[in-house]
Amino acid sequence: MTLSQQIPVATLGVPRIGRRRELKFALESYWSGKSCAAELLATAKALRAASWEEQRDRGVSKIPSNDFSLYDHVLDTAAMVGAVPSRYGWNGGEVPLDIYFAMARGNQGQTRNCDSGREHGACPALTAMEMTKWFDTNYHFIVPELEDDQAFTLSSTKPVDYFLEAKALDIHTRPVILGPVTFLKLAKSPAEGFNPLALLPRLLPVYEQLLRRLKFSGADWVQIDEPALVLDLNPNEIAALEFAYGQLSKTAPELKIMLATYFGPLGDNLETAISLPVAGLHLDLSRAPEQLETAGRLAPKDLVLSLGLINGRNVWRANLTAILDRIKPIVAGWPLDRVEIAPSCSMLHVPIDLRMETVLDANIRSWLAFAAQKTDELVILARALSQGRDAVAGELKASDEAASTRATSTKVHDPLVEGRIADINGAMKQRKSAFAERSRVQARTLGLPPFPTTTIGSFPQTPQVRKARSAHAKGQLNYVDYETFLKKEIEAAIRWQEEIGLDVLVHGEFERNDMVQHFGEQLSGFALTEHAWVQSYGSRYVRPPIIFGDVSRSNPMTVRWWQFAQSLTQKPVKGMLTGPVTILNWSFVRDDVPRPEVCRQIALAIRDEVTNLERSGARMIQIDEAAFREGLPLRKRDWKVYLDWSVECFRIASTGVKDSTQIHTHMCYSEFNEIIDAIAELDADVISIETSRSAMELLDAFTSSKYPNEIGPGVYDIHSPRVPEVAEISALLMLARERLSDGQLWVNPDCGLKTRNWEEVRPALVNMVAAARALRERV
Ligand code: GLN
Ligand code: ZN
Repeated sequence: MTLSQQIPVATLGVPRIGRRRELKFALESYWSGKSCAAELLATAKALRAASWEEQRDRGVSKIPSNDFSLYDHVLDTAAMVGAVPSRYGWNGGEVPLDIYFAMARGNQGQTRNCDSGREHGACPALTAMEMTKWFDTNYHFIVPELEDDQAFTLSSTKPVDYFLEAKALDIHTRPVILGPVTFLKLAKSPAEGFNPLALLPRLLPVYEQLLRRLKFSGADWVQIDEPALVLDLNPNEIAALEFAYGQLSKTAPELKIMLATYFGPLGDNLETAISLPVAGLHLDLSRAPEQLETAGRLAPKDLVLSLGLINGRNVWRANLTAILDRIKPIVAGWPLDRVEIAPSCSMLHVPIDLRMETVLDANIRSWLAFAAQKTDELVILARALSQGRDAVAGELKASDEAASTRATSTKVHDPLVEGRIADINGAMKQRKSAFAERSRVQARTLGLPPFPTTTIGSFPQTPQVRKARSAHAKGQLNYVDYETFLKKEIEAAIRWQEEIGLDVLVHGEFERNDMVQHFGEQLSGFALTEHAWVQSYGSRYVRPPIIFGDVSRSNPMTVRWWQFAQSLTQKPVKGMLTGPVTILNWSFVRDDVPRPEVCRQIALAIRDEVTNLERSGARMIQIDEAAFREGLPLRKRDWKVYLDWSVECFRIASTGVKDSTQIHTHMCYSEFNEIIDAIAELDADVISIETSRSAMELLDAFTSSKYPNEIGPGVYDIHSPRVPEVAEISALLMLARERLSDGQLWVNPDCGLKTRNWEEVRPALVNMVAAARALRERV
């Protein structure tokens, strides 16, 4: 068999950050003025070359270019089409690096110009553009900001430059660009009622110009990503897609477009996608395997189908035989040139290379695949399909073996956990009494003043705190000294909270690295990695725990520090836990049992912890669900199922307590309009949310008929270093009182204070307490 008969393999996009997080360190060094632009760009260039060469060596034929970004690919697209908000003072031409980074992260009143070797003086501080989650991933993109008279011009030739850069290495790539419809759909409306899609006719000429340049530079294919195709689309949006691709296909007829859709089934948009005048269509067959059959039947014979067979969102080794068996009856009679093999989506969302993990349990390791291993899997699938399974018999056997050891391993399957799941009953999802009754009991036993004051849990993670924790983790600070250090921190925090007159105290979370990892480290069924970083945004990467097996908790996880803190004061100290839904949403989750089942297991473990805290005397326990809303499915019709099981899990975790034990929860946002019923069904006694920046308007969702329980709307913005005045906090409290009854209202900041320093936190909380006291006197 000759190479030309090989089915092409595409990766759609690969991690950008570098095996050793080189991009992060280069960016931070540049931002802090320690290195200059040329050094940053050289690092980035070396990363691109290494990743192209690696893909080539592994056998990828459709190697992507322009999947790399210094910060974010949506920001790159905004810069490329000249959508630079006027506050950045851009005067046309190529968008300079300093403006690009100011759009991403604001500037700190300084820009740096290394090439001319001089620092600019202070420039006015600029706010960054907004950031939000990329579909249902944990990657965050910079939200394009458009003006209603927005003009577009081709302001960066990055896709062409990278194509040529690879070409110079003798690597022929398929450039990736974000599609115009998804770009506009993700953009912020310039004005109420203005639909950014109306700007499509202005935007398309820029895309056309780009496609012509790519063609001129020697590209024969381009990958255009339109993940918006997996969302609920209205007729206008469908028409926009038809218009856009009608235009773009005419631009450079010999440049073939691979239209990439991912993160779910096309569903009712499938026929539209298939009818667009493009040369290829990529389908996510990991989340939506069933669409292969329909697409194969409906698609014209000359439309190349890119089969997204390997999951680009998780870390599991694929069961290659099962995949081949599944698609075989469908693709059996197809000509080889009708298909490509690809991951379900860009591999941006998975860690780079499993081989870097040196301490992972050998069994668990044998069940995993990161980007490099997934690339090999793609090549194996393509060979099996083009040359027959015998050509890759050894590889398939290894894959089969991994699948079978995983299916039967006692590390994965714990009969005790499975038994407990089977025993979950209605009583375990229900507090003993309804809220009205509980709140009477709690009012009596807790004896809190009206408008009680509290904080969300964490206090500043000072350099000393971080240093001690990391020295302890590295074995440089012994257990006893580390404990002594933590005790001192906690004691100081408790004394200070008492001194300023907070009503409900916290221990400060000094021992925690991260609100999910801290629990992942202590629960069975979780594995942690050394190098498995994935980009969260810009230079911020996370290392999510891997849930590989049945989850259980053998020992209390938080009781000791809570107990120590409570022993220092008469005031109630809240027990502080991360909720099951958040732990699930911020981890890599096993794919051999349904997500709700994994979540129930975590819920039982948290329930055990809640029980232990209560038995040790905790009167209040907070269960944070920062990622509750972000788990919502992309399609509305799937929301109810998600909300049902996630509410159920929170209730399993939180309801095993006496009426007198007050359950708190916290969520880092407050847009609850569409899901207020589910939030009410959580039935937490108190919920704290982020409201200071919305001037309490978002509290409108919480009318007392919909939400009778207690609420702490955040009264100061913890994202800003600015200390709020008493009067500002008082004004926000008055706005809250227009929407809530006095008996419902708590007084707290928007979120935890770990990212702030004590110089900011001290006066802010003093002012917060003063505002609450003033209010008590007035009513
Ligand atoms: N208790 C956590 C803290 O204060 C909550 C963090 C969060 O919601 N993101 O840090
Ligand atoms: Zn929060």
